[in-house]
Amino acid sequence: MSLTGNKPSDGVENRSNGLSYYAIITENVSGMFYVDIRCIGCSVCAEIAPSHFATNHDEGYEYVYSQPVSESEINLCKEAMEICPVNAIGIR
Ligand code: SF4
Repeated sequence: MSLTGNKPSDGVENRSNGLSYYAIITENVSGMFYVDIRCIGCSVCAEIAPSHFATNHDEGYEYVYSQPVSESEINLCKEAMEICPVNAIGIR
């Protein structure tokens, strides 16, 4: 299941089945990693993996603008996912 929203304030949360699904920020390029609406724009992910996470300065959140390809790039994105303070980075 994949939900999309235009920006964090447009998000949808679905807890009907005991799991939480959060709308995915539409700027994410398709692929393995994505940022959802829980992002608070702390920029930690962009500091860890600047080749993959970019900032929407107007709206104050990050998104995946380039998917990782190599194992080292994937590991950097996984590190960003693990350190995200609000668990806003997901993996498909
Ligand atoms: S680390 Fe998480 S909360 Fe911080 S900018 Fe990245 S996705 Fe958003």
